[in-house]
Amino acid sequence: MITENLNKVRDNIDVAKGHRDPDKQEDVLLVAVTKNHDIQAMREAIDAGITDIGENRIQEAKEKFETLDRQVTWHLIGHLQTNKAKQAVKIFDLIHSIDSLHLAEAVNNAASGINKIQKILVQVNLAQEESKFGIYEDDLKSLLYKVDEMSNLELMGLMCIAPNYDDVEECRPLFAKMYEIFKKVKEMDLKKSNIIYLSMGMTHDYQIAVEEGANIVRVGTGIFGPRQY
Ligand SMILES: *Cc1c(COP(=O)(O)O)cnc(C)c1O
Repeated sequence: MITENLNKVRDNIDVAKGHRDPDKQEDVLLVAVTKNHDIQAMREAIDAGITDIGENRIQEAKEKFETLDRQVTWHLIGHLQTNKAKQAVKIFDLIHSIDSLHLAEAVNNAASGINKIQKILVQVNLAQEESKFGIYEDDLKSLLYKVDEMSNLELMGLMCIAPNYDDVEECRPLFAKMYEIFKKVKEMDLKKSNIIYLSMGMTHDYQIAVEEGANIVRVGTGIFGPRQY
C-alpha cells in the first residue's frame, strides 16, 4: 500500500511540476512524514525509495532514530522548544521550524556544543494565524540577517504551513506569495547562507504548492494513510 501511495504522490508531483512556469523547473524533494507511524512503515517507505523523513516530536524522533536500521536524512518539521534544542541537533539534518531569534540562538548554541553546523529553515506564518507558529513577514528579514551571523547555523531557506482551508485553492495565493518572498530572500545580501529550499505543501495541498514553486513537500497521510492517535 505504501509503495502504491508513494508512486501516486510522485506522479502527482511530476504533473504539478509540468504545470509550473519554466523559471521554477527544479527538483522537488519529497519528505515522507512518519509521525505516528511505526518503524515498519518507515522501512517500507525507505525501501520504496524514500530518502528523507519528517518528524514533529523530539521524543518520538529520538526513539525512531535509535531504532531505525536504514540510512536517511532527518527533517524536524514541528515546533521546537528551546529546551529541546540539544536533542534536536543530535538527530536532525534539517530543522524546518526556526521561528524566533531566541530559538535560533538556542539551536546555534546546541550545535556549537557538538561541533556541528546545523542546517535550518525559517518558518513563516504568512496568514498570520495566531494558532500557528512561524515568524511574521514583517519580522523576517531582520531575523534572517541575525541567523546569517550565527556561526553554527546554515540558513537554507523558508518553510510555511498553509491554513486548513475548506477549498484548497485558497492556498494558492499564499504559496505564490511565499515564492515571491523566497526570491527576495535569495537576493538578500547574506554572507554565508545558502538559500535553496522552499518547504511548503502537505497531503491536501502539495500539488498546488509545487505548482507555485515549492521544492520540498512534506507528505504524511498521502503516503501512510490516516494517523491513529
Ligand atoms: C504532519 C505534518 C505534515 C504532514 O501532514 P499530512 O497532512 O499527513 O501530509 C506536514 N508538515 C507538518 C509541519 C506537519 O506537522
